[in-house]
Amino acid sequence: MSQTSAPNSTPYPDAGKPMTSARVRDLMPDQLPNIVMPECEVRPVLKGQKAIITGASSGIGRAIAIGMCAAGADVMINFVGDDAPALAAVEEATHCGCSNRGRAIAHCADVSDESQVTEMFRAAREEFGTVDILINNAGLQQDAAIEDMTLAQWNKVIGVNLTGQFLCAREAIREFKRRGVRREISCAAGKIICISSVHEVIPWAGHINYAASKGGVMLMMKSIAQEVAPYRIRVNSIGPGAIRTPINRAAWEAPEAYRDLLKLIPYKRIGEPEDIARAAVWLASDEADYITGTTLFIDGGMTLYPGFEAGG
Ligand code: NAD
Repeated sequence: MSQTSAPNSTPYPDAGKPMTSARVRDLMPDQLPNIVMPECEVRPVLKGQKAIITGASSGIGRAIAIGMCAAGADVMINFVGDDAPALAAVEEATHCGCSNRGRAIAHCADVSDESQVTEMFRAAREEFGTVDILINNAGLQQDAAIEDMTLAQWNKVIGVNLTGQFLCAREAIREFKRRGVRREISCAAGKIICISSVHEVIPWAGHINYAASKGGVMLMMKSIAQEVAPYRIRVNSIGPGAIRTPINRAAWEAPEAYRDLLKLIPYKRIGEPEDIARAAVWLASDEADYITGTTLFIDGGMTLYPGFEAGG
């Protein structure tokens, strides 16, 4: 897995003094410690497993695919549109330098299209023999104020972010139940991780279609988890906060926008796709075997009501 690290050289200007919330709030980003993603050992915790990662030619999905491949899984990198970014992701996963790495292949399919999803799972079974892990990651935004939002914008976001996750989850469950547990591979018959958002719980004005889709993912995930737990199938969500990807470029590219963004993040750094990938690898592994029906927020504290940093 790629590592991002920078020397932690920029000290807090008032180091040693008590860190009150008011002081934290007043610090400018260039006065805060540099972003440091810790170096982590890559362990082959997914050795022999087969994973489909949707929307994996960019951003979070791409990082998860590369991370899972490095951890030993064979991965299908699902994408729509231009195949060049997907092939580049296959290339990076294949040359990640981990001796236990799995295989990576790319597959084009629109997750909101029932027949294309069915065909994607058929292709994965043909290529890999089965599917052990589904990462329901594909998603998009089409933002507008409620009075200006078109039905097409509403339907597009619900269609990809919610219906797409349902269609892929249904195919995955069918395959997990058909095959059952293979103890030598995993003590679960299958794992699904839905990439949700902090907006499954935080309302988001101007993004009602997106927030509705992620709120829907939350109860869909929990209901599926309850239904299939007796079959040793685990279903969970990851709720990212602000992660540096193309979907939210406007929020981090310009320094002014980034400064505003940090007001919402108690940990005072934007998340990196690898932050999500590491957690996804662990959550899909047997190390997380007793976890089902829950959302793991990976958000630097965004869901901690940062507006209350300075008291209510
Ligand atoms: P991204 O735009 O890089 O990734 C989204 C991917 O989904 C793209 O590769 C896109 O081509 C793909 N996609 C879109 N429609 C598709 C379809 N119909 N079929 C298949 N693939 C399709 O952005 P990202 O930030 O990596 O987003 C990944 C997931 O993370 C999304 O579900 C998003 O809602 C969620 N998320 C992101 C953030 C963040 O801050 N970046 C925060 C919370 C949640």
